[in-house]
Amino acid sequence: MSAKLLEGKPIAEKIQTEIRQEIKSLGSTVILASIQVGDNAGAESYVKSQKKLAESLGIEYRFNKLASETSEAALIEYINKLNIDKSVQGIIIQMPLPSQIDYKKISTFICPEKDVEGMHPANIGKIVFGKAKILPCTPAACMELLKSTGVNLYGKEVVIVGHSEIVGKPLSLLLLEEFATVTVCHIGTSKAGKLEEHVKKAQILIVAVGKPNLIKGDLISPEAIVIDVGINRVEGKIVGDVEFEAAAKKAAFITPVPGGVGPLTVTMLMRNLVEAAKLQRV
Ligand code: NAD
Repeated sequence: MSAKLLEGKPIAEKIQTEIRQEIKSLGSTVILASIQVGDNAGAESYVKSQKKLAESLGIEYRFNKLASETSEAALIEYINKLNIDKSVQGIIIQMPLPSQIDYKKISTFICPEKDVEGMHPANIGKIVFGKAKILPCTPAACMELLKSTGVNLYGKEVVIVGHSEIVGKPLSLLLLEEFATVTVCHIGTSKAGKLEEHVKKAQILIVAVGKPNLIKGDLISPEAIVIDVGINRVEGKIVGDVEFEAAAKKAAFITPVPGGVGPLTVTMLMRNLVEAAKLQRV
């Protein structure tokens, strides 16, 4: 392996130190309201890690668990109460939600200034104008990883594989803001037999698909920066979307999976909370 490992934890810890200071200087209690609907082991483990980090940063994590049969209307009413509660600065809805609730619909009811996940259409829209203070967490984590390499993004050939609303699409806008040349690939690119040619030209490659070994290591161009967002469970192990060993032989930097993007995303959530608290002060 010749690539440098781009690990999320040290970057997360540095940002956490900044958050701790900001929380202190805000001078009053900052509260993150977290809503879970029904029981789910996955959601419970996210809640646990959010709570642990929040408390270590001096943030009050106010957890609310609603019954699994909660209706959309009742959840909206609950969100509205939190929207007008001046003691609460951030709201997060845990996934997955029961089938009677449409997350896309529900998330638009969170007041944009309390939307710590950065997924409200108003916050996504602000990215287009380069004015966003609250950013979607995974794209923000990718930007921090890139920043840590010291790379100047201006004019760089960036290829994103995956065009989801939570990763690829907002990330492409953040990169355009830095004047990178951005190509976004997706299933259509693969079906047209064009994925390899795009991947080969990438100086920076970011993959968020959810298919182990989708990107063959020999396609990575020498000295590329590779950010693997994918999380896949294969034979009891967590792996990304990129053939790690082969890619690491060619790349300049590569994120491990696990340990790359993942550890940063929950920290980005807390940074959004600080921004949200500041927005609500003015
Ligand atoms: P998604 O299912 O919403 O989107 C998948 C994307 O991959 C789509 O754009 C689709 O067109 C594309 N795609 C599918 N097959 C393809 C192929 N053969 N070739 C090229 N493109 C293809 O997924 P998502 O929610 O964005 O998540 C993607 C992956 O990232 C998952 O593994 C998920 O677990 C992981 N993820 C990780 C984090 C993190 O914090 N580390 C956060 C979000 C998502």
